[in-house]
Amino acid sequence: MKKIALFPGSFDPFTNGHLDTVERGAKLFDELIIGVFINTSKASWFTSEERTELVRQAVAHLDNVRVISQESELTVTSAQRLGAKFLLRGIRSVKDYEYEKDIMTMNSHLAPDIETVILLANPEYSHISSSLLKEVLLFGGDVAKYLPPVINEAFLRKRASHEKLQ
Ligand code: ADP
Repeated sequence: MKKIALFPGSFDPFTNGHLDTVERGAKLFDELIIGVFINTSKASWFTSEERTELVRQAVAHLDNVRVISQESELTVTSAQRLGAKFLLRGIRSVKDYEYEKDIMTMNSHLAPDIETVILLANPEYSHISSSLLKEVLLFGGDVAKYLPPVINEAFLRKRASHEKLQ
């Protein structure tokens, strides 16, 4: 049976830390589906359609990876609909561990047949989060090292158009 995994997240923006997890996950599964959450409580610079399209471009080099906009439903429901028996997540720190442990335990209560696979972050990216990068970008900092080029460029364009409006 084909091993399919779902990697859910807000990816706002999708960073090189996420990309590293995706590249390693793609070697573990036959197919990896990235689910970009439509609804996020965090303020977003891009619509969910734009975010999904940017992630698609950032992973275009990976043959067994595809990207979907995640419906407003439980992650395990999406996984079941997609035929995914695995959820992929990443942890950077002890703080992430506690958070991911609770999500994993709840998901296994909701869907005992779905296994969560957690990868430890690459130390090169374990200090970055989407919100930290957005904050630095907002005030003009250079975070190109931490973003796939297509995403960094999109953010720089968005920032420039905001500056023009002010
Ligand atoms: P969520 O809002 O669901 O936490 P994120 O987009 O912030 O979504 O993160 C998706 C997943 O990627 C989570 O499991 C998170 O712990 C992991 N992650 C976030 N940043 C990194 C990073 N720099 N390196 C590895 N994994 C990361």
